[in-house]
Amino acid sequence: MKNEEVTAVKNLLSKPKKIVIVPHKNPDGDAIGSCLGLAHVLEQLNHNVNIIAPNDYPDFLKWMAGNDTIIIYDSHKEKSEALINDAEIIFTLDFNHLSRTGDMEQPLSKSSALKILIDHHQQPDSYANYIYSDVSMSSTAEMVYHFLNKTELTKYINADVAACLYVGIMTDTGSFRFPNTTSTTHHIIADLIDRGAKNSDIHNLVYDTNSYHRTQLLGRALSNLKVIEDLNTAYIVLSQKDLNEFHYQRGDTEGFVNYGLSVKGVVFATIFIESEQENIIKMSFRSRGEFCVNTFARNHFEGGGHINAAGGKSDLSLNETVEKFISILPTYKTELTQ
Ligand code: 5GP
Ligand code: MN
Repeated sequence: MKNEEVTAVKNLLSKPKKIVIVPHKNPDGDAIGSCLGLAHVLEQLNHNVNIIAPNDYPDFLKWMAGNDTIIIYDSHKEKSEALINDAEIIFTLDFNHLSRTGDMEQPLSKSSALKILIDHHQQPDSYANYIYSDVSMSSTAEMVYHFLNKTELTKYINADVAACLYVGIMTDTGSFRFPNTTSTTHHIIADLIDRGAKNSDIHNLVYDTNSYHRTQLLGRALSNLKVIEDLNTAYIVLSQKDLNEFHYQRGDTEGFVNYGLSVKGVVFATIFIESEQENIIKMSFRSRGEFCVNTFARNHFEGGGHINAAGGKSDLSLNETVEKFISILPTYKTELTQ
């Protein structure tokens, strides 16, 4: 955002407004943490703030302050649409295109509210009046911190805000280990701890609250792991039958794809997850180094994301999807083996 845009946004926020904040569909730690962190600041400025998430999200994110106030569009369409219609400002966080909000795309694009996008995904769309997009950022939560800094609102970062932004940064950096983690990220994390984020508790609340079934499902995923050695590629397939066997709950497969990337020599890892409910195969892609999974996901599986982390989907059957994937791979041999 240019300086004059920052000034304009600052002026906009200087008087109480009706504000809606929206994360992407299937919101993750960064999406929910960013929305709640920003909401807690705006509430202190006496704005009327509502967070509307397109659909539900995993239990390990539900302990954050203000979680109970998040409205789920899927189950509260009328109320959500009234709030969207009535909003003066809509913040869209952690996504680059309104289609990433699923069924909320329609009401959001119809709304005459002023829109502010804060996001770190590649190729942001132009629907917003103010666009703060930076693909070099570790997380949208880190960007919310910068946004608060630019708009001189950091004094409102209390312990609740700090915890929410900590979750966003922690989850999108793989606990500060992915290459998107910079010294600035660590400086911000230090400041969030100083402001009351209980770092060790937060790691436990997000990562050490697995059900027994989830841990067993991880065992199945690991035994299903395949490695294509000459293409430095690993993949995991989980069928709906696997998920049912271990009483799958939303969020249970979060992070599984990274185990593929932990195998020595592997630069590209994928997980295929069958969803009978959505009638699609959902895929997560991860890579190490130069191989761009954003491009791969966009070109072949209606998806997108970042260079080293992306997602996509397929309407084919589980087997056909895996076959399609395997047949495409050799065309990337040079990138995968350099
Ligand atoms: P995950 O694999 O953890 O679901 O997502 C990894 C990254 O890719 C996230 O930044 C997420 O926003 C993005 N992503 C996941 N699924 C999709 C998708 O279907 N379309 C697009 N454009 N991005 C996705
Ligand atoms: Mn993110």
